[in-house]
Amino acid sequence: MLGLMQDWPLLIHKVIDHAGRYHAGRKVISRSVEGPIVETTYADIRTNALRVAKRLTKDGVKLGDRIGTVAWNTWRHLEAWYGITGIGAVYHTLNPRLFPEQIAWIANHAGDRMIMTDLTFVPLLEKLQEHLPLVEKFIVLTDAEHMPQTTLRNAVAYESWISEVDADFTWAAFDENTAAGMCYTSGTTGNPKGVVYSHRSNVLHSMCVNNADMFGLASRDVMMPVVPMFHANGWSLAFTAPMSGTTMVMPGPKMDGASIYELLDTYKVSHSAAVPTVWLMLLQQLEANDQKLPHLKKVVIGGSACPRAVTEKFRDVYDVEVLHAWGMTEMSPLGTVCSLKPEYQGLTGDAWLDVKETTGHPPFGVEMKIVDDSGKELARDGHVFGRLVVRGPAVAREYYRGEGGTILDENGFFDTGDVSTIDPYGYMRIVDRSKDVIKSGGEWISSIDIENIAVGHPDVAEAAVIGIVHPKWDERPLLVIVPKAGRSPTRDSLLAYMEGKIAKWWLPDDVVLVDEIPHTATGKIQKTTLRDRFKDYRLP
Ligand code: ADP
Repeated sequence: MLGLMQDWPLLIHKVIDHAGRYHAGRKVISRSVEGPIVETTYADIRTNALRVAKRLTKDGVKLGDRIGTVAWNTWRHLEAWYGITGIGAVYHTLNPRLFPEQIAWIANHAGDRMIMTDLTFVPLLEKLQEHLPLVEKFIVLTDAEHMPQTTLRNAVAYESWISEVDADFTWAAFDENTAAGMCYTSGTTGNPKGVVYSHRSNVLHSMCVNNADMFGLASRDVMMPVVPMFHANGWSLAFTAPMSGTTMVMPGPKMDGASIYELLDTYKVSHSAAVPTVWLMLLQQLEANDQKLPHLKKVVIGGSACPRAVTEKFRDVYDVEVLHAWGMTEMSPLGTVCSLKPEYQGLTGDAWLDVKETTGHPPFGVEMKIVDDSGKELARDGHVFGRLVVRGPAVAREYYRGEGGTILDENGFFDTGDVSTIDPYGYMRIVDRSKDVIKSGGEWISSIDIENIAVGHPDVAEAAVIGIVHPKWDERPLLVIVPKAGRSPTRDSLLAYMEGKIAKWWLPDDVVLVDEIPHTATGKIQKTTLRDRFKDYRLP
């Protein structure tokens, strides 16, 4: 017997229809690439998305066609996503921080027919376009007044382009499993791999992460996604916020501490989301200028491990709750958020920090477990660690064009490449990426744990730990430090600081000071480059 309920496909344009109707006047405030702050509303975003959809149709774009975007977080980028998906075409975010050859490789692999770009990236694309033979047209996300002289093929200014049509358009009808968006993983090994989100996965994912223990956004909140829309599906905030009618503040091209602070303060932002480096920068800005954060309530921090010192400072000095989160491009991207369940309410001091340092628990819609190399499930005791595998309606089942072959095990679980523990209440703690974990005498050492402790040292700005080949132990940890300006901590002071905070045999064998630690295009420490650089390093 079947249920007798309606068939209401989960399509992305229904999100903007909902926001445009029930939260019509709610603002989307953006720092434009041209400079000024621009205020628009969900009703306006919907109207312009309809025009984008109509205009793309006029250009011959069809169901399944890929449209690249190289753009910051602004209202125009939002309009573009909704317009593109409204005809069943596919938004494909390109990360401008990648090397130009990688951008071209990815755009060609995805088969992007058009590229929408911010003014910032026009020079980059002018140089690249000879390697982008499939791109028929470049749409510059600006108006006629700011449109530069450009050699870009069939270049048009976005505002002029959409003004050629009205908003009298009906969203296309198609199956909810139709592709909606694409995002390539940075591919630290091998070629980048394309993750293809569907309408259904994006809508379900946003519904799942919008519960009160996760992002928990409401129409009274003001959310500033600092995390760019080109990083891991923009952490789904482009759908999650409109779904709840939450005001959005979009930082555009400026993500330095002063610019972020200005928006937080002026627009009374209550919620924000970004990788740890952004928050480290903001905290330095606040300290240097004696600024406070009276409106900010919650910050989602993920993408890399959030150092304890950040969580502590946000709470003690600024009265802001850090929600440590974990996810990955393949998971749309959210996997877990560290909000406190009743079992952990009332904790204080180190016990509280110990829990807040974990990446938290999954929402409904994410199944996870840890397994050993033979695939056997390991204990959820908070100590044993193993490979973290996940399953759910917003988890990838394969990469675009079959890259990487089969990625699920026989029970449909996806191996995240992370090594973690899970405690009895479901709190997951990332121990390491499986390729970064240090194997010492048959045991594992977590590079992340050591890094997190090292950055608590008053003279340390950034820390990375890598395994160095060792004749007796296979590998031993080397601590690489960027000191704070004007400081030069000694090896002994650093080791003394760490002693007692980690097992003695986890203490790094040596410490080196460097000017800079290399980062990936999504702001993560590039361990492969560091390992290359120190491959001949001799430990004492
Ligand atoms: P990319 O590798 O392309 O930058 P992802 O954003 O998909 O893409 O990276 C996901 C990985 O980032 C995870 O598998 C995990 O290793 C790491 N990660 C994400 N969040 C955290 C976190 N809170 N703590 C530690 N590692 C994290």
